[in-house]
Amino acid sequence: MPETTEHVRAGGLSALERERMLRSLAGETVDLLVIGGGITGAGIALDAAARGLRTALVEMQDFAAGTSSRSTKLIHGGLRYLKQMEIKMVAETGRERAVVYENGPHVTAPMRVLLPFYSGGQLGPVTSRMGLSLYDFLAQVARKDRHEMLDARETLEREPLLRRSGLKGAGCYVEYRTDDARLTLEVLKKAVELGAAAVNYAEVRELLYDGKRLAGAIVQDRIGGGTYKLRARHIVNAAGPWMDGIREMDRSKRGKTLLLTKGVHLVFDQARFPLRQAVYFDAPDGRRMVFAIPRDGKTYIGTTDTFYAGDPAHPRMEADDLLYLLDAANAMFPSLDLAPGDVESSWAGIRPLVGQEGKSPSEISRKDEIFVSPSGLISIAGGKLTGYRKMAERVVDLVSKRREADGLAPLPASRTRSLPISGGDVGGSAGFEAYVRRQIKAGTAAGLGADEAERIARRYGSNAPRLFELAGGSREFAFRHGLPLGLAAELRYATLAEMAASPADFWIRRTGRLYFDRPGVLRLKGAVSAAMAELLRWSSERREACDRELERLLGEAVQP
Ligand SMILES: Cc1cc2nc3c(=O)[nH]c(=O)nc-3n(C[C@H](O)[C@H](O)[C@H](O)COP(=O)(O)OP(=O)(O)OC[C@H]3O[C@@H](n4cnc5c(N)ncnc54)[C@H](O)[C@@H]3O)c2cc1C
Repeated sequence: MPETTEHVRAGGLSALERERMLRSLAGETVDLLVIGGGITGAGIALDAAARGLRTALVEMQDFAAGTSSRSTKLIHGGLRYLKQMEIKMVAETGRERAVVYENGPHVTAPMRVLLPFYSGGQLGPVTSRMGLSLYDFLAQVARKDRHEMLDARETLEREPLLRRSGLKGAGCYVEYRTDDARLTLEVLKKAVELGAAAVNYAEVRELLYDGKRLAGAIVQDRIGGGTYKLRARHIVNAAGPWMDGIREMDRSKRGKTLLLTKGVHLVFDQARFPLRQAVYFDAPDGRRMVFAIPRDGKTYIGTTDTFYAGDPAHPRMEADDLLYLLDAANAMFPSLDLAPGDVESSWAGIRPLVGQEGKSPSEISRKDEIFVSPSGLISIAGGKLTGYRKMAERVVDLVSKRREADGLAPLPASRTRSLPISGGDVGGSAGFEAYVRRQIKAGTAAGLGADEAERIARRYGSNAPRLFELAGGSREFAFRHGLPLGLAAELRYATLAEMAASPADFWIRRTGRLYFDRPGVLRLKGAVSAAMAELLRWSSERREACDRELERLLGEAVQP
């Protein structure tokens, strides 16, 4: 298949098209420019494109490389925020869980979570039952998914690793597991399918004005080096932890500002930490609650929550984070006796919270807030992955109001509530399993083993046929580079349809393997680098820089 046809067939986000897209954007005035390609920016681009706005999104790193690939990877209402009486937020995000699941069952799956209680602990059977009943009610949980209460014996049957002494029982309730970076990509790809343009490694360096009114931005291509003037009628600042930096560019950073806190997660192999099911528990200092979650043959635990003053682009696990989480894990699962050498990988993320004086990190509200500057810059901060769709709806409603003030017709109402994201056309959550079974046949016909075909169908949903097509045409490419056929297809898809521009993009944001399959990355990193160098026509300098970056990230994931 010639490469140009491959691009078109694979979708609209080819890493080979980045410069052409920037040049073409520089020749027009878009309705909406979104700064930031995390979940907030991606959600806004989708809502705006779905309402007919010509939308462009620029991201200075890789898509989701900010906070949106570094979360606890849960679509959840935030049970613990009930303690802080954040009733409205818990109700909204709790209800959103089912919407996110329905529109993208390939990136979200329900999962039962145990909430154990111990004699002398903060929670007891009565408070747990009350809290979980309120959660079910606020989030309008379907009957089959409502919480249940377990005694100590039933609790240990579900999770034998739990500390036994003092265990009185547990609540058991449903949350949703996700892949945060893939969720962001699927939302963005849907926006692109509906006409938006999106470019990664494209940094806003300066804002442009017509008189006092914001009118565009100067964007620098961090790979090619070129500079482009993008003109836009409205600009949204969805820069997450960097939001205040953009407000400073606009000279409008006044009133509330961001507070950054860091959260770390540790990953263990299931052979060392054979957790059967997710558990949500108090850390020994009683100040935070920590999740332990089984996933893809691994168990991960997190998160910490400490104020952060370093570079938001490079948060990493430090010795204190490591010890805090090991202590928490060993207190709740004492038979494991985990040590620093057991950590197989880790990640750290920065929460962009809207500042509240005098509160500790875990007490600061996770509510989103919107700020509009005199020049017209719309900034949004706070919030959660889970609430991205409602946040986007509020921002685009505001854009619509501002257009009306300019004498334009109001935009139609948001369409995203029942709009499947990219890969989500699988017959809804009810149809997903049957869809996967049908796709396994198509995958094996393309030369993949049944397990590999199933893995791809589960991860890519209704885009799986494109990957199978790529697999069919990748045998020689895979053989030449010593890559398994399924991985070769994923790599081609990542570069041609998801704008992966470096091995770190592929191993972290496209496949999550740096966190969940480190041995696989160590085995195949050379082959993937050579294959990407061929696909993206890299110079030897570019390849060396990319390889160095991956080595640094592999090191940081295990060394505090
Ligand atoms: C440890 C941790 C655990 C969490 N767990 C959960 C969870 O389980 N569930 C949940 O719902 N939420 C969770 N959250 C919250 C959630 O991850 C965040 O609310 C969300 O990812 C924020 O997304 P964002 O798009 O606003 O920011 P980001 O993902 O950081 O995106 C902003 C982007 O803007 C880009 N940018 C900045 N400046 C510029 C510029 N000048 N030009 C171009 N681009 C620019 C950045 O590179 C960045 O990629 C967690 C957060 C943390 C830190």
